[in-house]
Formats: sequence, structure tokens, C-alpha cells
Amino acid sequence: PEWASYNIGIFICTRCSGVHRSMGVHISKVKHLKLDRWEDSQVKRMKEVGNLNAKLKYEERVPPCYRKPTENDPQVLIEQWIRAKYQREEFCHPEKQTYINGYKDGYLKKRGKEDSSYHPRKFVLSESDDTLKYFVKEKDKEPKAILKVSELNVVFAPEKVSIPTSLQFTFLKDGSTRHIYVYHDNPEEITNWYMAIRCVKLHRLQVAYPSASEADLVNYLTEDFAKEGWLFKTGPRSTDGFKKRWFTLDNRKLMYHDDPLDAHPKGEIFLGYMSDGYSVRVGAKAGVKDLRFTFTLTTPERVFNLSAMSEVERDQWITVIERVMERPLTPQDSVISARLVRKRTNTKSINIFSAR
Ligand SMILES: [Zn+2]
Repeated sequence: PEWASYNIGIFICTRCSGVHRSMGVHISKVKHLKLDRWEDSQVKRMKEVGNLNAKLKYEERVPPCYRKPTENDPQVLIEQWIRAKYQREEFCHPEKQTYINGYKDGYLKKRGKEDSSYHPRKFVLSESDDTLKYFVKEKDKEPKAILKVSELNVVFAPEKVSIPTSLQFTFLKDGSTRHIYVYHDNPEEITNWYMAIRCVKLHRLQVAYPSASEADLVNYLTEDFAKEGWLFKTGPRSTDGFKKRWFTLDNRKLMYHDDPLDAHPKGEIFLGYMSDGYSVRVGAKAGVKDLRFTFTLTTPERVFNLSAMSEVERDQWITVIERVMERPLTPQDSVISARLVRKRTNTKSINIFSAR
């Protein structure tokens, strides 16, 4: 690292040094290791403390559901981790961890399903009934929607929504996926919502799988999308032309949308295990026009002709899709698969495996 906080006594990278400076000198005093002048007492302090000792103190009681950020994580997650540690000292004082209680309510700005404006909605998270509900009006007795937390995925969506403190909720409703976009002006508050949902999920999993280790279960709380971006896709007939769609790979579901912020995908493709008839390869199926960066995705139901915007993009898509197909199905994967497939066989009018 090139920087240090000489009152806390730790070495930090350039990115973290910006966050440390933004907290103010009453919390963290930042100096460059080479470009700034150091007094003997400051050097002594650095020698006394150091990163390991500081970690033992400031990370003494990080709850297992808390997502510790890594280098490439969203800025809000990194910033709030640093503030939680040194400014609020949340992990020295567990009573400050409001997100571990299994209940949270408050207002979030929610993007309209049909229009792009955001309106305040009251959200209520409850561990005891495994739900995240939201209400249109404060006095409403009936929620507008009830989401099952155990089937909910939450990701930060700063780039897609263009708001750094935004979240995307993704869940199954009546056999197909629904997306909800929310944000809060306060970065601490949006992070608390994220952690609160993770904590509820962990506690529910611990009840459902009492013999599983906590270290294993924390891997199933939230999952960032493996990849998102524009691809060209043809319809089911070989005469269909290529159409531009926004693709999202959420665990084993490859979804495509007209617009990145659509409430529902136009279609979703369940990616099963390789030996069950799933594959992906470079190039077009015979008889299909080959755009420059075409690749072919095969499932037992259908062959999908897809084309990326560049060779790099195409190779990244193939890599992430292959990685999913190389993984055997977990029990949760099978549940999702069954619910999607049931929709396909029961409802003739809506076929999730074809372009709507
Ligand atoms: Zn850093």
C-alpha cells in the first residue's frame, strides 16, 4: 500500500485512502508513505498497531451474514464497510448492528413497474414469516406485494440504475422472474437493507439445514450476477432476424429483456448440467446467419443463436455459461428448474422458453 492512517495505525490502498479522508480527520488521519513528512511519534504509532492488530480490534465481531467487500465490489459496499469499522465501530459494539435482528422496516424509493419514476414505498422485512413486503401507502393494510426472502436475490445495481445507492431485488413470482429496483439516499441505510436481508436468509438456512456449517451457508445468501450485457438473439424460427436484448446471468437463469430495467424478462433460459444436454459453443447453427461474434447455446428444449458486440464479450459469455453448466445441480437449483418448467408445461399461452 502507498497510504496510511497514522492515528488508527494501518496501511491502506489508494482507493480506501479516499474513503478514510472523507470521514474527516477526527476519525482517520491519512498520509502518503513517501510523499508526506512523518514525525517520529507517528512512525512509532504505525509500528505499535499495524493492520493485524487493528483488524483484531475493529473486526472483532463482524456478523457472519455481513458481506466483507473485496477489491472489485461496488463503491457503496466498500465505503460503508470502512465507515462501519472505524467511524461507527459497529464490529466492536454489536448493539449497533441493527441489521441482525431479523426485522426491518422503512421507506425505499421504488421504480415504477411501467414508468421510470421512483416513488417512496414502505418495506417490511420479517424473518419469522420469511417475507419482504411493501406497501403503497402508509395506512394500507394489504401489501402491494409479498416476496419470499428465502427465494430472493439482492444485488447492488449502481451502473444499471445510475444511482450508487440502488439495489435490485430478483425473485420468482408465479413461475417467472420479477425484478424490483429500489434506492435510498443514505448509503448506510441501503447497505443495512442489504445486510438485513442477508441475515434473514442465513438464519432461515440455519433452521432448514441445521447440520450445514455456517461458513458454507454464507455462500448462499446473495449472488452477484455472473454477467450482464447486450446480445443479439434470434427467435425460435430459422427465418427470424437478430434482435438486441439485455441479458442477465443470475446463478442458473439466463434472462433476456428489452430494456435493462424491465420488471420482467422477456424470456428465461434455465442452464442445467452439461451431461443433461446443455452446451455452448462459438459459431452459428447451420442455416443461421453468422453475425461476427455469434455463439450457440443448446438446451434440451431449444437451440439459441446469440451474438455479442465483440470477440472479448463473446468469449466472456461463453466462459461464464460454461462455468454454470459444469456445476451439478444443487437441491435449490432443482426447485427453481421445476418451477420454471412447470410454468412451461401448464400454461400454453405463456412459454418462458420462447421469445414473448
Ligand atoms: Zn483498500
